[in-house]
Order: sequence, then structure tokens, then C-alpha cells
Amino acid sequence: MSKRDYYEILGVAKNASADEIKKAYRKKAIEFHPDKNPGDKAAEEKFKEAAEAYEILSDTQKRQRYDQFGHAGVGGASGGGAQWSGNMDDIFMHFGDIFGGHFGSAFRDFARGFAEQQEYGGGQQQRKQRGSDLRVKVRLSLKEIANGADKKLKVQKLVSCTHCNGSGAKDSNSVKTCPTCRGRGIVTQFQRTILGSMQTQSYCPNCNGSGKIITDRCQYCGGQGVTRAEDVVQVHIPAGVENNMQLTMRGKGNSAPNGGINGDLLVLIEEEPHNELLRDGSDLIYNLLLDVPTAILGGTVEIPTVEGKVKVKIDKGTQSGKVLRLRNKGLPSVNSYGTGDLLVNIGIYIPENLSSDEKRIFEQFQASPNFKPNASSRNSFFERFKRMFE
Ligand SMILES: [Zn+2]
Ligand SMILES: [Zn+2]
Repeated sequence: MSKRDYYEILGVAKNASADEIKKAYRKKAIEFHPDKNPGDKAAEEKFKEAAEAYEILSDTQKRQRYDQFGHAGVGGASGGGAQWSGNMDDIFMHFGDIFGGHFGSAFRDFARGFAEQQEYGGGQQQRKQRGSDLRVKVRLSLKEIANGADKKLKVQKLVSCTHCNGSGAKDSNSVKTCPTCRGRGIVTQFQRTILGSMQTQSYCPNCNGSGKIITDRCQYCGGQGVTRAEDVVQVHIPAGVENNMQLTMRGKGNSAPNGGINGDLLVLIEEEPHNELLRDGSDLIYNLLLDVPTAILGGTVEIPTVEGKVKVKIDKGTQSGKVLRLRNKGLPSVNSYGTGDLLVNIGIYIPENLSSDEKRIFEQFQASPNFKPNASSRNSFFERFKRMFE
């Protein structure tokens, strides 16, 4: 049996927006939530399946790889059913951005209680802490965006302390079993939730779920298990990214003590404005101001592109408001194939100051019928304006 298509799982179209995907996942998550379907293995599988689909489709980079290469592009094998490696805790991490507001936090607390129970069910598993996410900005020129870029980012972050291997303890004799939970890492509690009251187990507040307490702290990290250090992270930025897009580098954020899970490094794209070209999605726009003789007689002009100037032929009798389309001189699209165009908007520059000779020449033209617009030139000129506002 092959793996189901992620779009099919969430019941959304291939070109669904991030918002549509989020809404679809929220619906599925509520429908198949294990607490609404106790003991229902099929519902649990569907719940996991939806979480996996959302994990991929909510991440711009992963979604792009999935669109291009299918399951193989995001590390999923093609055979078998649900093979997701993530645990319930990972699933509930999505809920932070899925369920907003008051309901969100109540649901999250409830969900967390559930996630913890799940973990205990699997045996004596102590709590693993997760390092926090880090966010860095990367400023890119239009040229870098057009070609994609490899960047080395210097990041100040928390790394596992090398002296105590992240334990926070001075040595192996400085670690004792927690007396509150007797090393189990958990305590039992009675909890009220929005779905009724239930008995839950939660992490021991004394040892923070680790089951151990430290009697003598590591002097290098003060018992934190982590120290601040500079790290250089290599990141590949795909071509066609846009301002405010965010790339997620899994596990490149802050480390957590006691061999916990690293947070993510979130790379925020900042687009450097180009001094001549404007961006419109994957198209670029250049406003060309053409001199009167070239507009009348025709000629050649230089147009800036991302890769430098190109020469473009101007036909004789070129009108103000005409748009030239330079195919594939725009930007590649980050989420699909193809490259945009460069649109050249033509305006005609009318000189404000003339020498007496120049003035005399134009006075002669003033009487010429060739310089007077007729009905058909009027129509074609204002047709263009009409189209612009449609
Ligand atoms: Zn240490
Ligand atoms: Zn404890």
C-alpha cells in the first residue's frame, strides 16, 4: 500500500493557501482527536496522518520538496502505512499556531496532558526538554533571490556544555534520584479541562521531570547544561524567495540541557529593494522614460535586469503607456516551475526647456496633420488605460 497524498489527506487542492491548509488540518485534528475517539486505532492513525501532512504542507520548503519529488522529497518512504517518526508531543507542538486565543491555550494544556500520558504509556520515559527556537534575518539582493544563495550565518546560541556533557552536574556523584517522584519524573494530578475533568499525570515540579536532582552544579554552565556560544550555520536559500518568508532549519536553534531536543533556527528573508526594478511576485517591473525622438523614430535603449543591462529595440511610433514584456527576465517561482517576465512600462519624456532653434522646429510641426491625433489613435491610446484599470 502506498502512502496517501498529503493534499488528499487534508482534503485541499494542490494550490491551497497556507490558511486553507491550516483550517483543513484544524478540522481533521478535532475530528480524529484521540480523546474524542478513545481506543479507536483507525482514528488515531488518521490523526497522525493529518499531523504528518500538516507538518510538511505548512512548511514552505518541505511543501516545495514534496510538490517536486513527492514523499521521497521529504524523507517519507513510499511503502507502508503511517511511518511517521514523530511522537505525540511533536503533533501537539503544531497546536500553538493552529488554535489561537483562549480556546487555543486551554486546548493546548489539555493536549499536553494527553501527550504526557502517552509517553508514560510507553514505559519509563523521562521528560526531554526542547531548546527554544532562534530567529535570524537574512538580507538578500534581487540577484541573490534570482539565483538562490548559500549563506553562512553567525548565530549566538545555547549549546550543550562540553564540561558536563549537558547534564549540569559537577560530576557523576553530584546527581541524585529525585525524592519527590522517586526518580519517576512524574506525579499524578486531578485536572479540569474544557472537555471535562480527568486524572492526569504531569511532570514532577521538583526535578522538572528529569527524575534526578543535582547536588553540585557544573561550574562552567552553572548547572544549566548549556552555554552560550557562536555557531556558524550554512543555509541554502532557494531561488525565488520573497520578503518575510521564513525557512526552518530543524534542530539548529538553542540546545536543551540533558540531551534534550534542539530548537529550530528560523531564517527570515529580507529583500533588499533594487534601485531600478520593482517586484511583483515573480515578475519584475521597470519604468522606462523614453525621449521624444526615439519614441518617434525608433532606436535602441538599455534596460536593467537582475543580471545587468540588456539592449532592447524600440519600434518607431512607440506610444506612451505601451508595455514591453521581456520573457523570462523576471524571477524564478519558489513554489513551482517557471520564471517570471520583466515588464517595461513606457512613458515619454517631454522636454520642458528648448533652445530657440528647437522651438522653431516644433512650431513647424504644430501645423502638421501627422502630429495631430485622430479618432483611431485616440481610441487605441485610451483603450490601454481602460485595460489597466480592468
Ligand atoms: Zn556544564
Ligand atoms: Zn522529581
